[in-house]
Amino acid sequence: MLLQPTDYGKLQEEIKKLKEEKNAVILAHYYQRPEVQDIADFVGDSLDLARKATQVDADIILFCGVHFMGETAKILNPEKKVLLPEPKAGCAMADMATKEAVLRLKEKYPNAWVVSYVNTTAEVKTVSDVCCTSANAVRIIEKVPAEEIIFVPDKGLAYHVSKRVRDKKIIPFEGFCPDHYLFTVDMLETLKGKYPDAPVGVHPETPPEVQDRADFVGSTSQLLRWATSDDLKADRVIVITEIGLKYTLQKRRPDREYIFPTPDEGVGYLLCSQMKSITLEKVYETLKGEKNEITLPEEVMEKAYTPIRRMLDWSS
Ligand code: SF4
Repeated sequence: MLLQPTDYGKLQEEIKKLKEEKNAVILAHYYQRPEVQDIADFVGDSLDLARKATQVDADIILFCGVHFMGETAKILNPEKKVLLPEPKAGCAMADMATKEAVLRLKEKYPNAWVVSYVNTTAEVKTVSDVCCTSANAVRIIEKVPAEEIIFVPDKGLAYHVSKRVRDKKIIPFEGFCPDHYLFTVDMLETLKGKYPDAPVGVHPETPPEVQDRADFVGSTSQLLRWATSDDLKADRVIVITEIGLKYTLQKRRPDREYIFPTPDEGVGYLLCSQMKSITLEKVYETLKGEKNEITLPEEVMEKAYTPIRRMLDWSS
């Protein structure tokens, strides 16, 4: 059944009651649907959510995001129940990197450290030295005590980092986000032509040639800060990332206009169908039945913990 907007209030109330009854917290990524963000205890990007997962005092974490995010929350909270409203919500970029492929690269570059974007499976994290997110990638790479870095899996973020950390050799894995990486220079030019006064902020998962034409390149939380800041003298800004961020931008600073890629603007949506597969109804059903629990083999949990913990320690 598809919910109509008028149903949301009632269902949101039911979810809030369940949260109290079960001592549960809801964490949601900025790319979630607005009505899902609205019932979350905390909304953030991957780094915010990983940090928050270490601080929550609850028996259940219901994670409104894709699979690798739920895994990360579970690895940081082995004693808690971590539930995913849609167990099939995966990340195509994370699935591009396998543990075997990373080990092959390690054989080729034995002195390199493996730095994994959190957008990787727990299996890949078991053979990684440290994790990073798009918000802390530069800081983490600067701290790595090695000159060569195998960067897994996002080649867009690898490009962003290699432009800022000049004294290290970045060996990129050939992965990418099918949503961000398919945004082209032509699409950007269409938006710039329509809004020549608007500064452009892009996510580092976009292709290098798009990043090179932007006024600002930053993670979701960095884009949020940049696009709403008083320092930016603009009535409207072009923001190239997943459309879900628009909701938070509008809430945080409603007096500014945010131009996202949409068919109305003459370009296709930049929309992650996996993130959007989580609905309020699924949140309710999952919490009610305590369904779709994330489980991982103990050995994987233990080995994947080290690079995630190291990232949190290095970025605090
Ligand atoms: S937007 Fe891209 S990187 Fe993010 S979850 Fe979706 S597929 Fe993965």
